[in-house]
Amino acid sequence: MEEQNKPYIIGVDLGGTNLLAVVSTREGEILIRKKEETRAGEGPEAVINQISENVDEVIGLQGIKKEQVLAAGVCAAGFYNYKKELIVESPNLKNWTRVSLGPALEEKLGLPVLVENDANAAAYGEYRRGAGQGSSHIIYITVSTGIGGGVIADGKIFRGAQGYAGEIGHTTIDINGPRCTCGNQGCLETLASGTAIARKACEVLAVGKPTKMLEVAAMEGREDVTARHVFTAAQLGDEAAAEILKITLEYLGAGLASMANLFNPEIFVIGGGVSMSGDSFFQPLKKVFCRRAAGPVSETVEILPAALGDEAGITGAVLLAAEHFPKY
Ligand SMILES: [Zn+2]
Repeated sequence: MEEQNKPYIIGVDLGGTNLLAVVSTREGEILIRKKEETRAGEGPEAVINQISENVDEVIGLQGIKKEQVLAAGVCAAGFYNYKKELIVESPNLKNWTRVSLGPALEEKLGLPVLVENDANAAAYGEYRRGAGQGSSHIIYITVSTGIGGGVIADGKIFRGAQGYAGEIGHTTIDINGPRCTCGNQGCLETLASGTAIARKACEVLAVGKPTKMLEVAAMEGREDVTARHVFTAAQLGDEAAAEILKITLEYLGAGLASMANLFNPEIFVIGGGVSMSGDSFFQPLKKVFCRRAAGPVSETVEILPAALGDEAGITGAVLLAAEHFPKY
């Protein structure tokens, strides 16, 4: 009965921009949260100290003792080697090469710690408590600044040999396409992410095509056009913006079709800022997907918006920790 004395799990979401710490139940219900900017520029040691301070703070705010916490689940941006417990490389956390985050945090927090890549954790969170509930074969894709992905196969995270599986953002869509941060060119991320949409808007403006995109951005007091402005302009009937989205969704639909042919999922769950555009995003995406996926593969697949928003990753991390350390 020892485990009943430890009903809580700590969750940590370590991103390049924000650091989120929560106290959760073992079932993934978040009780209290604290978010602040990640001191990413100060290097791994400072960030590990920052995580420790934030964890102590949420424990205090919830009015519990650390002895009542079973474990901590951490999701982190970047390539995470699950076997060696190393963040091997992270584009958003500068100077984080081969950082042994789990063991360092275990020592600092005095708790068992499980670390998972953020997209894998988000896939698991959506599977257990979000849009993927009731299905066992799910592909989660987040479309925001970049494109991340995680695969749930038969109810488990499909990690591959080291933990790097599911990187749909770095599948090649155009062999001659733009250079990607991963070193390849024409990755899906370079063609269909929020960053790619904004870049295409810049190109349209540079050649002087008539468009309302700048006006839409100016209404928010901005001089630069973001992906959201492109969506809004398209909804207002702007042809140049609509053309950008049409091409973007064609690339994204092609990416989804390739993943469906490989993994035969029941559901795609799409998260991230770009997917918040509702039907104007999902309906054309579904059409492209059905046209491109191999016949029988596309028939039963649903494409749904994520349900847990930016807490999908931390929810998944908490649940993974709760299951990994059952009676510690
Ligand atoms: Zn890439």
